[in-house]
Amino acid sequence: MSFYVNCDSMAGLYFHIPFCRRICAYCDFFRVADLGHLPMAIEAMHAEMDEQRDFLHDSHIRTIYFGGGTPSLVAPARIQELIDHAARLWDCSRVEELTLEGNPDDVTKEYVEALRTTSINRISLGVQSFDDAELRFMNRRHTAATAVEAVKRLQDAGIENITIDLIFGVDGFDESVLERSLEQTLKLDVQHVSAYHLTIEEGTAFHRRMLRGQMRVVDEERSEREYALVHRRLTEAGYEHYEVSNYAREGFRSRHNSSYWHGAEYLGIGSGAHSFNGEVRRWCVQPVAEYAGERRYELEHLSELDHRNEYVMTALRCAEGIDLEQLEQRFGRVAREQITAAARRWQLSGDVVVNDRQIYILAERFLLSDAVIESLFEV
Ligand code: SF4
Repeated sequence: MSFYVNCDSMAGLYFHIPFCRRICAYCDFFRVADLGHLPMAIEAMHAEMDEQRDFLHDSHIRTIYFGGGTPSLVAPARIQELIDHAARLWDCSRVEELTLEGNPDDVTKEYVEALRTTSINRISLGVQSFDDAELRFMNRRHTAATAVEAVKRLQDAGIENITIDLIFGVDGFDESVLERSLEQTLKLDVQHVSAYHLTIEEGTAFHRRMLRGQMRVVDEERSEREYALVHRRLTEAGYEHYEVSNYAREGFRSRHNSSYWHGAEYLGIGSGAHSFNGEVRRWCVQPVAEYAGERRYELEHLSELDHRNEYVMTALRCAEGIDLEQLEQRFGRVAREQITAAARRWQLSGDVVVNDRQIYILAERFLLSDAVIESLFEV
């Protein structure tokens, strides 16, 4: 039985392109730096789509997303072939958003011209910072000037839905660096910004530097100050802070990511890609080099409690928070009462609003969301 499927019941399609020219110092994503398997992986993605055509309960696709890794390493014509193939398997007549993640370095004049011949209508650029020293520190392969040029080139080509990623909370780069990156972001006037606090994950170059004592996790006060700076600068400039790490101009929220947060079904294609059909979460564990062979998946069957906790987690990360009517419909009156009672503590501290219809974390207090969410989980 499915407990948690989006009300408008349209699905998302995600293509994972797990290839990068260079590995960033903070990155623990599923990706490889050897591009030799890229053509074979694209071929195998077509085959995987055929195999998985029945995974989704709903065959209406609402959003398509190419993530990675670095999808801009794939020729736009190959991207369009994947989109066309999807349209033969599922109903893509109402697709609203087709996003492709790109590295600023790849966004050359020729690339943008080729991209304009595809159906892609949203570009997500991994900028991270507009400071060259910070970019080098993160082992990014582009400079600040390249990132600015890439955004302008896309805008000049008429792409009107651009999002950029930024990272803050980086040891050794103070708030004035972040302030300048935000300044430059605002000058570019993109439609959407994702701003993430750096986390140092095991297995990354940053983690190794930390073990050698060459770098630290920034302290809590600094995290809070930088978070507040990002929130203030972007909201004052008219962006809506609609999810912990996401800011959008009106009408430009990420539909693909929003559907993840609202429990919609999605099918992930590619080595390392995750899928969810309302009952089962599944991910392809086949290493990139073997992805063209027989594909293997790991499965997780979600219990009702998992669904409930996940609902609380994703809802509270979004500005609208928990819709209490919806919560009751899905998980019952007792769940509504338990969660409302647990949220009252945060209401007293002024971090959370609890009213008759919803429970939500104030956007300027989103940094606390993990603690709030955990306290509302049923264990
Ligand atoms: S480009 Fe993206 S996926 Fe590739 S190493 Fe850097 S952060 Fe990771």
